[in-house]
Amino acid sequence: MPQHELILLKNMMQPGYTGSLVDYEKTGGYQALRKTLGKIAPADVTAMVRKSGLRGRGGAGFPTGVKWGFLPKDYQGPRYLCCNADESEPGTFKDRQLMERDPHQVLEGIVLSCYAIGAETAFIYIRGEMVLGAKILEHAIAEARAAGYIGKNILGTGIHADVWVHRGAGAYICGEETALLESLEGKRGLPRIKPPFPATHGLYNKPTVVNNVETLANVPHIMNRGPEWFAAIGSPPKSTGTRVFCVSGHVKRPGNYEVPMGITIRELVYEHAGGMRSDKPLKAIIPGGASAPFFTPAHLDVKLDFEHVALAGSMLGSGGVTVMEEGTSMVWAALRLMEFFYHESCGKCSPCREGSSWLVQTLRRILAKRGHMEDLETLLDLCKNIAGRTVCAFGDAEVAPIQSTLKYWRQEYVDLIHEAEAVNLIKLEPAGRH
Ligand code: SF4
Repeated sequence: MPQHELILLKNMMQPGYTGSLVDYEKTGGYQALRKTLGKIAPADVTAMVRKSGLRGRGGAGFPTGVKWGFLPKDYQGPRYLCCNADESEPGTFKDRQLMERDPHQVLEGIVLSCYAIGAETAFIYIRGEMVLGAKILEHAIAEARAAGYIGKNILGTGIHADVWVHRGAGAYICGEETALLESLEGKRGLPRIKPPFPATHGLYNKPTVVNNVETLANVPHIMNRGPEWFAAIGSPPKSTGTRVFCVSGHVKRPGNYEVPMGITIRELVYEHAGGMRSDKPLKAIIPGGASAPFFTPAHLDVKLDFEHVALAGSMLGSGGVTVMEEGTSMVWAALRLMEFFYHESCGKCSPCREGSSWLVQTLRRILAKRGHMEDLETLLDLCKNIAGRTVCAFGDAEVAPIQSTLKYWRQEYVDLIHEAEAVNLIKLEPAGRH
C-alpha cells in the first residue's frame, strides 16, 4: 500500500495515544495557537488559510478562507463560529473519529478560526446520537480551559474564545448550515431561505461562520507548517490537502482512510480498503455520501478530488465512499436511500415533502413487482420537478440515487416491471386454464 503522510489521523495512529491534553501537547499540540494568537494578525490568518486552498470537508467544498472573508469587516457586535459536527450523511463517519480520538486537534482549529474571524464564542453542534463524542469534547474543553487555551485571555494574550458543545436531536437536515443555526437558537431545525447568508445574518442574526469538523482540524497544521506546504499536497490548485474518506460496504477493510486528494477510487478501494470482501466483482460506488450520484466500475480510475469527481458526474461531498458488489439490487439500493431521505425531509417545501413520498411509493411498487413502464417516466419527472426547486440542497440530494441508478442500471428496473407484467398476465387468465 502506498505510504502517505498522515495529517489529521497521525496522532491517533500512535500506539498509546489517548487524545488527552498531555498526549496532544507531546505531539506539538497547541503550538499553532502559541505561534499565532497576538503574533499574526487575524486578517493574515484568513489570508494564509485562503492561500492553502483549504476547502470545506462537510459537503459543499467551499473555500474556507474565502468564506471567512465574507464576514463584515467593520461590524462591532458579536460574531460566532459554529462547528458543524452533525455528521449524519449515510456512509460518513470521519468527524466522529476526529472528535473522539483527537479532540484537542479540533479544539485548536476552532480557537484559531475564532481568532481569524473575530469571534469570542464558538458552538460545536454535535449530532445527538454521538453521546461519547459529546462527553469527550466536554472533557477536552475543560482540560483546555484549565490550561488557558480556551476562555478569557488565552495564554495571556488578551484574546477571548470560549467553546460550547450543543447536542442536536438527530435530524439529518440540521447538518444544513441554516437549519443548524435555527436548531441552535432553540427553534425547529428548518433551513432558511438564502440570502441573507450566515456571513451577515447567521446565529442570532449576527455574522457567523459554519465550518465542518475536518475542515477546522486542518487549520492548526496550516498555521504550523505554512499554507504553501498544505497547498502542495493533493491535487492543486483546487483540491489541496488530504481527505479522510470513510469506506464502507462490501470491502475487506471498511474504515477511515486519510489520503492526499486526487488518488483514484481504484487505489482507495483495492489498496487501502483491501478490495472486495468476496470473489464477486465491484458493481457500484457512491463516491461522496448518500447525496452523491452513483458511479460504476467504469469510474474506478476517476481521481478523488473536487473537480474530477464533478466532471465524472458526481460529487466528493462528505467523503463517504460506499462500495457495492455484483448481485446488489440497484433498485433496492435506490429505495433504501430514498426511504432515508423521505424520513428526513423537513417538510418545509412541497416539492421535497410530497415528491419524496411519491418517489418512495413508486420505488416500493416496482420492487414489489407491481410496477408499470410508465413508473420510470414518473420517477424521472418527479426528480426533475424536485431538483433545483427546493429551499435547500436536500432536494438535489434525494433525487441523485434514483437518477443515477436509472442512468446506469435501467434494465434492472425494466426487468422487475416485466416480471410484474408476467405475474399480472397469469392472474388475468380465466380460472380453469391452469
Ligand atoms: Fe426541507 Fe426538503 Fe425543502 Fe430542504 S428541500 S427545506 S429538507 S422540505
